[in-house]
Formats: sequence, C-alpha cells, structure tokens
Amino acid sequence: MNIPENEMKEGKRRCTSLMIDDNVVVDLALQSFDYATKLDAGTEKITDIFLSHTHADHYKKEVLLAYAAAADTKINFWCHKGAVPQLQLSEEEAERINICPVEILEKWDTAGMKVTALPANHLVEANLDEQPLHFIFEKDGKTLFYGCDGGWFQSKTWEYMRKNAVFDAMILEATVGECPGNFRIGTHNTFPMLRLLIAALSENGMLKENTILIGSHISGIGFDGNDDKVREELGMILAHDGFSITF
Ligand SMILES: [Zn+2]
Ligand SMILES: [Zn+2]
Repeated sequence: MNIPENEMKEGKRRCTSLMIDDNVVVDLALQSFDYATKLDAGTEKITDIFLSHTHADHYKKEVLLAYAAAADTKINFWCHKGAVPQLQLSEEEAERINICPVEILEKWDTAGMKVTALPANHLVEANLDEQPLHFIFEKDGKTLFYGCDGGWFQSKTWEYMRKNAVFDAMILEATVGECPGNFRIGTHNTFPMLRLLIAALSENGMLKENTILIGSHISGIGFDGNDDKVREELGMILAHDGFSITF
C-alpha cells in the first residue's frame, strides 16, 4: 500500500493514533498502519476502528484502506454521521468497510467493549455538519477516555462524564502547551487549562488514586520538550510515536 509522505521518524510526536489491545484502532494518522506493522501488532486481528474527526492528522483514507485490506474480517468503522461524506471513499472502497455512524451519548457494545461517543469542543471548518468526538472505552472493568482533539469540554460532555465515569486512564490533548494567548484556545487545550481540568476531574470523583493521565497531540508550540516537568507539575505522562502502556 503506497501511503504518501508517511515516513516514520523515531521519537517524534506527530499525528494521533491509538491501538487498544490487538483488535481496535482509534484515529488513522498517516503513519498509523506502518507503525502497527513495524511493531508487529497483528493488523489482521483488527475488527473495529473509531474516528474522532476527519482532520488530516486523524484520518487518511489510504490508512483506512490498508487496515481494511489487512484485516481477517470486514472492519467496523465508527464515526459521526457528518463525517461520512468526508471519508472520500468510492462505492467500491466503501463496500470493504462497515461504516457505522455513532449515536452521541448512547453507550453501545462492540469489540468486547462498551463505547460512548461524546461531542468534543472542536471544529472541522470545511464541514460544519461533522461533530468531532471524544470516546469512553470500557473493558474488563477498566475505563479509558480518549480526547484528541478538543478544548474545554462541552457542557453535555462534562455532565455525562461527571455522572457516569471514573477513569482508570485518560488521554487528554495538550496541543498548545504553555503558550498563552494562542488562537487555538477555543478548540485545543493548553497546560494551564489542563491544570484546572485535572483539578476538577479529581475534585468531582472522576479520577482514582492511580488514574494514569496521558498528554497527547502535543505540538512544538509552547512546549520546551521537558517531559519530567510536565509529569511533576501536571501528573501527566506525554505520549510519543510508538508509546505503549498497560493498565
Ligand atoms: Zn482536529
Ligand atoms: Zn488533531
């Protein structure tokens, strides 16, 4: 599969993609399939892919088709209904994938998990019909939050999480780092925003003693590369290409 401009650069932080166990992928960054192959992740076992939104750092059609071609079964592809036209799949390509629009704030079962899609405070400028998503994944008594991209939680999302979730691990986006006054504040997080958010999550019983907080989607803007400082001040581990964790 020829995926343009997909060269892998070790130790870099770039696009966002996540694999859960050996059968689920979240977001289809440009290098996602090649990393999965390189890390010997067994892409033939993938049954479900979840898409947060169609920005180019989260969705690449060629990557979806590579996963679909490698999988032993027809892949379930979960996304917001407004994202479907943006997938740019031909009729023939779409036949290789079960495209499954999600119901927001309605928990469903798939891939051995319970999944909830939450509206994210984010925007696909070219397609205002598309609602970007965060996800809650529950499996074997563990609860994971995935929130890339989105700034402050929408009120519906916050209230749902406050009433329904205690997290074992949270992947929170930290795009803008310490950069004050950056225009992305409406659609992405800064470290100062995360300080307040983490305090509120803790205060409202949404974190456990040992909840793992992972910062992701971090750009070079407002971040000096000092991971230890972030771990000390925010209690967050910062993800990087090839990062893996067990909880
Ligand atoms: Zn985005
Ligand atoms: Zn992004």
